[in-house]
Amino acid sequence: MPALVPAFARIGEENAFAVLARATALAQAGRDVINLGIGQPDMPTPPHVVEAAVKALRDGHHGYTPATGILPLREAVSRDILRRLDVAVSPESVMIVPGGKVTMFMAILMFGEPGAEILYPDPGFPIYRSMIEFTGATPVPIPIRERNGFAFSAEETLGLITPRTRLVILNSPANPTGGVTPKAEIDRLVAGLAGHPQVAVLSDEIYGTMTYDGERHHTLLAYPEIRDRLIYLDGASKTYAMTGWRLGWSVWPAPLYEAARKLAVNSFSCVNAATQWAGISALDGPQDAVAAMMAEFDRRRLLVVEGLNRLPGVSCITPKGAFYAFPNIAGTGWKAKALASALLEEAGIATIGGPDFGVHGEGYLRLSYANSAENIARALERMGAFLAERR
Ligand code: PLP
Repeated sequence: MPALVPAFARIGEENAFAVLARATALAQAGRDVINLGIGQPDMPTPPHVVEAAVKALRDGHHGYTPATGILPLREAVSRDILRRLDVAVSPESVMIVPGGKVTMFMAILMFGEPGAEILYPDPGFPIYRSMIEFTGATPVPIPIRERNGFAFSAEETLGLITPRTRLVILNSPANPTGGVTPKAEIDRLVAGLAGHPQVAVLSDEIYGTMTYDGERHHTLLAYPEIRDRLIYLDGASKTYAMTGWRLGWSVWPAPLYEAARKLAVNSFSCVNAATQWAGISALDGPQDAVAAMMAEFDRRRLLVVEGLNRLPGVSCITPKGAFYAFPNIAGTGWKAKALASALLEEAGIATIGGPDFGVHGEGYLRLSYANSAENIARALERMGAFLAERR
């Protein structure tokens, strides 16, 4: 067998996919498994978006598109950013990519090399660390703390920057915690970054439409002083329940845009043409399906938090964004990964252990509420019985 280059000994993955495979296998073997592990909305893509893709195929959109995406979609992304976030972004700085992950892949490839340090949230989306390690750069975790409501601390983040830091990755609203970083904290962070002009910023705002309790999403795009080194990551996966379509977009400063375009030409060429036309329909079309999804997530969010706080040894702060709860399970006496595994194998509930999102995830579980209120209630009941029996 020919040897792989050593970088492949360092690349990681997302345990959520392994949990999903195990949960599916158990269900196929006849077990009643409730899946609270999965990070994708359980609603279908809105029908008008599906119709737009069908029409695009019927209209003959079968060929390559520009590597950076079709102009009408880049214009729709600009309109969406202006409407939602009140920031003007030129379509020439918008790039269409196959999913949110691809923007982080590109950004980390651009700045990661041996000797470079890259800051990333911990607990956080596992691909950040995996990709940083792949490039040979040093991953520097930014601890995300429950006592801060799982928001970034500007002070702690800035304190981790050294002359070797090349990139800081931020994510709000956040996976896996549901934390939303307040504007005052982002203001402080951006002010501090002025003293570190060599540091680029990747702001993962894939959950930017998903906040609750009147909480507003604060975009990093709103800070002109860092726009020349900011990469904004977003996409259709979560907002429009389109995880399987593979549609993301990003905003880049001009010199990085050219590098991103070259990476696209060297790898995926372009996003599936019909998917891009569907994306225009998602962004420009009626948003009532998004509002209905968020109302449903909100209802389930309160159900999950209330149920978790009734369990012995468990406490859970109310998440302000995304569709995850991140309960503290330290009082149960269980290690998080052992509990996630026992819950799946013995109680038929799929969750993800906090350590799958980083070392600071020990003592927590991630529960996705992308499942029906009825299933969430059943899962909480089963968790209660399991914990009472196995204390
Ligand atoms: N960023 C975060 C924080 C996520 O949680 C996810 C998906 O779970 C992604 C990016 C990737 O999204 P996509 O499926 O569009 O690649």
